[in-house]
Amino acid sequence: MVDPKPIMAAAKAFAQRHYVELAAEELEWQDTALLRNGRMRELAEMLKPIAGHDPLVLAKNLTHRAALEAVARVAELEAALRQLLGTLQHADISHRYQGDCPDASDYNRRDPECPACQVMVRAAALLSGKERM
Ligand SMILES: [Zn+2]
Repeated sequence: MVDPKPIMAAAKAFAQRHYVELAAEELEWQDTALLRNGRMRELAEMLKPIAGHDPLVLAKNLTHRAALEAVARVAELEAALRQLLGTLQHADISHRYQGDCPDASDYNRRDPECPACQVMVRAAALLSGKERM
């Protein structure tokens, strides 16, 4: 008997990692009635041991779930960025250029004491998903 838990966990992780490609393939599939040899088939192949005779149904379900989770993340991110922009609208924020503010030689530097750098760090954290609202 196959243990379904590790297979499902791996399949969910795969769907979360490749949801953009999976969604594009499914849309193409709906539009053309042809499923290309891509991520969806790869996901179905992973699910074969636990999905019975039609692993593509389960692959589609996992794709939908991952796509919905992505939509929820985007909505949360939009709200967080809106809040951040709202904060900035009434603030006079500029780099203090007394430490590690970004400049032409290194745009990636950030000064933890600089208010403008703090906003850049916060926005980057929101975009990377490391920080939540
Ligand atoms: Zn700065």
